[in-house]
Amino acid sequence: MSRAGKVRVAVNGFGTIGKRVADAVAKQPDMVLTGISKTRPSFEARRAADKGYPLFVAGAGRAAEFEAVGLAVAGTVREMLANADIVVDAAPDKVGSENRGLYASQGLPAIFQGGEAAGVAEASFSALGNYDACRGKKSLRVVSCNTTGIARAVSVLEPRWGVDDWEVTLVRRAADPAESKRGPVNGIMPTLHLPSHHGPDVRTIYPDLPIATTALVVPTTLMHVHVNHVRLRKAPQDAAEVLRAFRGTPRFRLFAPWEHVDGTPQAMEYARDRGIGFNDMMENVIWEEGVQLEGKDLRFFQAIHQESIVVPENIDAIRAMLDLARDGPSSIAMTDSALGLRSKN
Ligand code: NAD
Repeated sequence: MSRAGKVRVAVNGFGTIGKRVADAVAKQPDMVLTGISKTRPSFEARRAADKGYPLFVAGAGRAAEFEAVGLAVAGTVREMLANADIVVDAAPDKVGSENRGLYASQGLPAIFQGGEAAGVAEASFSALGNYDACRGKKSLRVVSCNTTGIARAVSVLEPRWGVDDWEVTLVRRAADPAESKRGPVNGIMPTLHLPSHHGPDVRTIYPDLPIATTALVVPTTLMHVHVNHVRLRKAPQDAAEVLRAFRGTPRFRLFAPWEHVDGTPQAMEYARDRGIGFNDMMENVIWEEGVQLEGKDLRFFQAIHQESIVVPENIDAIRAMLDLARDGPSSIAMTDSALGLRSKN
């Protein structure tokens, strides 16, 4: 704990996810960001320095390279970890697993991301799905962007009506906007390995959920879209009842037909208009008009902003592990208020 009684959080890996998590930590009333790490100087390292985040050298990086361009270095990652109560690992896929031994050797609780295999941590985490079961764990894995989106939707439908069968087709963005080593391909690329890994991943949160997922990659960078067909165990009264359930749950943003959000470009334009950190869209986007009910058969679309949906989840994972909040809803409310998200639609 810091002298002000705040939890000291270090973020190891400062790319797409890490820089967002770092900013989110810095905004929380009960947390303090004690450092971030970079492997080499870059525009992101400069921004971290501009924001006053202590900058530590990760991986094979060398302090002299940072100092040569005027970026002050606070130390090594090992030193960053020595002054933290918890670390959020946001290194590239599979590098988190390599970092695990370092955290364990310092006895430090650690959060990993969805690019790691489930076995990297004691449990997988979704704030609306299994907050209570994750309390007090020494390590957690925040599931991937797509899995987080599906798990949130499960948390709305399963407890109310039960689920007999859930099929999701994931239409995935080909790359993140800042990526230039790969990009949107001129084609539609089916993931031929069936089911796609997302269904089994959702079951790390909801072990008994009858879910099957298929996926394809399309030439876009903005968001993923899920096409859902859910056979509920009990029929809701009407689609309006389902909409009310989504609307009353944090981290869902519903768009009405009159808002003319025709697809992901407008959903992200809304996010840019709103202008919270990085112009992100951390909520699941649901099109009201696209929620259709026939008896027990529910069909709906949702869009997922891959770069940011897991950010509030990392914050709640910190509170769950260190038992900082009364319960999941209290942590979610605290996180969302600090991030500027609406608690209800
Ligand atoms: P990224 O490549 O944008 O960022 C990773 C950062 O870690 C880079 O700055 C890199 O220089 C740094 N790094 C490299 N080696 C390191 C080391 N040994 N120690 C510390 N830092 C190191 O990757 P990302 O997209 O932010 O992904 C991070 C994790 O989040 C992955 O597990 C990924 O699967 C997951 N994730 C990504 C997305 C997404 O859409 N980008 C969404 C959800 C989850």
